[in-house]
Amino acid sequence: MTGSSISLPSSLTKSRLEEIAQTFGTPFLIYDENGIRETLKRINRAFSWNPGFKEYFAVKACPNPSILEICRDEKAGADCSSAPELTLASLVGMQAEEIMFTSNNTPIEEFRQARDLGAIINFDDITHIPFFISHVGPLPEFCCVRYNPGEERTGNSIIGNPEEAKYGMTKAQIFQALRIMKQEGVRRFGLHTMIASNELNPQYHINTAIMLFNLAVQIQDQLGIRLEFVNTGGGWGVNYKPEQKPLNPREVSSGIREAYEGIIVPNRLNTLSIVMENGRFITGPNGWLVMRARHEKHTYREYIGVDATMADFMRPGVYGAYHHLIVPGKEEESPDHVYDIIGSLCENCDKFGVQRHLPKIEIGDLVVLCGAGAHGKAMGFNYNGKLRGQELLLKSDGKVEMIRRPETQDDYFATLRFPGSKY
Ligand SMILES: *Cc1c(COP(=O)(O)O)cnc(C)c1O
Repeated sequence: MTGSSISLPSSLTKSRLEEIAQTFGTPFLIYDENGIRETLKRINRAFSWNPGFKEYFAVKACPNPSILEICRDEKAGADCSSAPELTLASLVGMQAEEIMFTSNNTPIEEFRQARDLGAIINFDDITHIPFFISHVGPLPEFCCVRYNPGEERTGNSIIGNPEEAKYGMTKAQIFQALRIMKQEGVRRFGLHTMIASNELNPQYHINTAIMLFNLAVQIQDQLGIRLEFVNTGGGWGVNYKPEQKPLNPREVSSGIREAYEGIIVPNRLNTLSIVMENGRFITGPNGWLVMRARHEKHTYREYIGVDATMADFMRPGVYGAYHHLIVPGKEEESPDHVYDIIGSLCENCDKFGVQRHLPKIEIGDLVVLCGAGAHGKAMGFNYNGKLRGQELLLKSDGKVEMIRRPETQDDYFATLRFPGSKY
């Protein structure tokens, strides 16, 4: 079942899910270790032709050390953009060049922590170079610069137009930044861009690599700098909808390889590594939010109230994102009921599905939201005093382990200062 966002792993039958629910309670997010490993293996296999290829898992997609350990095991690094993300990566033993620090509007302390870990620092702006030197210290030996192509590329629908994006530098600034870095003693260089999000079209990702390859050649010609890597960012899409075709790493790779042989090799840059920072593609299809139907309500519409809320998974509520819903044990039944599947927030957008055709749902049935492995727990929040849920891992040996406990009221109150208390 790996690679499909639309079904559960075959071992997660209804009775197995009920067993897990008996042990841990509902709701829960559950991730599939096998699926995550297999996804990383497929990426690494597809790009094995490239010397030094590396996937840096974007920690923001699923910031849990158990997930990062799996990534590390499968030779992935971590792409971090905050102090806690850096800490998580270092806690699972990632260090130095295994950590890419791709941040923006960066605070001094975060630059400092990244420098102390020996991470590759990806500079978002030319002004960050003097800022780093005066507040943190000399530039590290190995630095990266983030390119924003502006009108040269049109962004995909999610990330928007590069010209309107706050990230990265113009082409002129890239050249100037690299010149300054070289004078400041930087010896090893990378070039980054990120102009797509959740993009399923392989050609889009191939075009991004072509753009970076051409720029790498210009950089060599004009500055005499041989880049060590180009970083195509994240943005590989997930087929959240049943009719969508999954993105195939081999298709992206073969297009990029052709461009590498056409642009990089003839220019004798052929030690250039390709690295990327996918997050969603790695864990998104390999996680599920398992909820239980608590109420049914019949007014102008038919509602099923479940025991999770947007606090557990906010993409449908905030973006209107489609996530496939399954009623375990009823997969073969005809989807002849139309429901809104709702949480309990006092917000009408707190719905996991709107006007969905599903089999008849009884109170007590499990309802599973697919494609929940990225931006689930990570985007959770406490609005309405809702407590964020637990995360479970379905391990390769079939056992299930809790990798984050559910929040308690004590967690919720931990940061408050009550009137009259000594705080
Ligand atoms: C969000 C982000 C990623 C990961 O994006 P996905 O859509 O999860 O692949 C990688 N790099 C940067 C700089 C990002 O902001």
